[in-house]
Amino acid sequence: MAKKNKYPNKSEDRKSNVSLNVHSDKARAKVNSGVFLYSGDISVNELSKALNVPVNDIIKFLFMQGNMITINTVLDDELIGLVCLEFGYDFQRKNVVEAENFEDVEINDDPSKLKSRPPVVTVMGHVDHGKTTLIDAIRNSNLVDSEYGGISQEIGAYQKEVGGHKITFIDTPGHEAFTQMRARGASVTDIVVLVVAADDGVMEQTREAIDHAKAANVPVIVAINKIDKEGADPKRVREELLGEDIVLEDYGGDVIAVELSAKKKTNIDALLDAILAVAEMQELKANPDRYAMGTVLEATLDKSEGPKATLLIQNGTLKANDYLVVGNSYGKVRRMTNEYGSILTEALPSTPVSVIGLSEVPEAGDRFMAFPSEAEAKEIASKRKDTQIEKTRNQNASVMSLDDLYSKIHEGEMQVLNLIIKADTTGSAEAVKQSLEKLSNDQVRINVIRATSGGITENDVLLASASNAIIYGFNVRPDAKTRAKAQEEKVEIRLHRIIYALIEEIEAAMKGMLKPVMVEKVNGQAEVRKLFKASKLGTIAGCMVTDGIILNHSQARIMRDGVVIYDGKISSLQHEKDAVKECRRGFECGILLENYNDIKEGDIIESYSIVEETNNG
Ligand code: GDP
Repeated sequence: MAKKNKYPNKSEDRKSNVSLNVHSDKARAKVNSGVFLYSGDISVNELSKALNVPVNDIIKFLFMQGNMITINTVLDDELIGLVCLEFGYDFQRKNVVEAENFEDVEINDDPSKLKSRPPVVTVMGHVDHGKTTLIDAIRNSNLVDSEYGGISQEIGAYQKEVGGHKITFIDTPGHEAFTQMRARGASVTDIVVLVVAADDGVMEQTREAIDHAKAANVPVIVAINKIDKEGADPKRVREELLGEDIVLEDYGGDVIAVELSAKKKTNIDALLDAILAVAEMQELKANPDRYAMGTVLEATLDKSEGPKATLLIQNGTLKANDYLVVGNSYGKVRRMTNEYGSILTEALPSTPVSVIGLSEVPEAGDRFMAFPSEAEAKEIASKRKDTQIEKTRNQNASVMSLDDLYSKIHEGEMQVLNLIIKADTTGSAEAVKQSLEKLSNDQVRINVIRATSGGITENDVLLASASNAIIYGFNVRPDAKTRAKAQEEKVEIRLHRIIYALIEEIEAAMKGMLKPVMVEKVNGQAEVRKLFKASKLGTIAGCMVTDGIILNHSQARIMRDGVVIYDGKISSLQHEKDAVKECRRGFECGILLENYNDIKEGDIIESYSIVEETNNG
């Protein structure tokens, strides 16, 4: 066992990820090389100071634009923009991320500071195809019988060294953990190893795993397992994968497949080499010279040691004695160990570590961030608690309903509509998928991330939640448990029995999603035959509808000798003595135009409407 370490003092060469003064409520406004940079609320007074323009000039200018303001008025972005342009400045609002909302902090490291980091690998595949056996085989492969006594399974992840390069493996096989993390907004996996048993081929959960990897945009390496078994048919597996859009290298694609036996430990090295090759292409990098940030892989309450968590460091370096905010609580790294139980004084990006010293047990998928001082960690944790950021984040992250699509598109948030389709037969699932994908257009892409037969399951709900997708059931229904899960995850499930109704519904939502294009539609024309003067109303044109239909209250124009002399609106329409909504071709009607009386016999009145047209087709 390693001796008790005297921890070195924290070196101060690491950069903080967020600083408390970043989230000060005070607005910040300054001019930087001709650009007015600002955040928060800006008053006229502040703007005047920053731009060095007298307050009165700004007030005068805005007054001329029709805005009554005073020195203390808080200006909206549009007015700020107007003023800046008027006085010769460009402008830009800086979106300040509150320090306590550290999940949203964008780290822009200087490229020269970035160093390669090991890939983080998750193993997925159908039950009994050999995931656990493979994870164990890798864990124990070329493990020298060391004084460490082997890797402890408790930590939930481990690193393997292959030819001088490290690979980090997440221990929990299967896509449930992977998806739960993603549903919580955490993505920890760089590469998915998809285990397919050579004697069984592509199965239900193989497909699910493929969907999950694709939805997360994570590259896949296929481990064709159990090649030692009688009845093993690796070629069949390769062909079946093709049907799932996993195109292996031998079919001209870019997905690597390795044939191996997890049980006999044959060809494990080839899989590790493949992982390194894919990782190299990904150019995975992180900056060790900053305080650590990452994700909780798992956590427990240890009877004697208190809360204990496995953390995956995703950027920066974690050192012993660092202060941490994990989820909504804070703590100190009192002891940090690796998968062998040895004590570490520091851990680099992609390293999984077990940490003791937290005040509460976090949840898997919680994000953490390290801070230089206890005061900072404490304040940020307490703010997080107050605002329950985590909670609202999760609620928001999972919500997707047809109703909000339009506004999401509008905010530029989404151009892809993710859908999961479950149908009574594989044939109808495929048919629905194809019809829906055809609806994609320039602005909205319909992305079917899963289309299979069978009832709607909790697994579907999890995938939907992780991918912000809507679930469509065609002639199938979710059971009560799945419904409850969907409610909890705020996933929308929509059920249909007729394919047309389903397509129409999405089309309608997409129309909302599309920026409507306003086009003119001519309803019809009428010829003015006779004029009647009504003292109160003005001139009524007695007409014959010669084409189409005249609609009351529609837009209308008058054409005289082919020239438009009036463009306005029909204010009332009559047939004989009655007010009518419309009058069709061949009928006589009286038309009164809005604010226009100078009509002549022989004029043509054209009724038209402005309608929304989507560039859908
Ligand atoms: P998991 O459910 O995907 O984690 O599958 P397991 O790792 O538990 O394996 C399921 C069964 O397949 C076990 O009985 C393993 O011993 C067996 N198995 C796993 N890999 C191989 C292999 O390469 N060859 C053979 N013959 N059996 C294997």
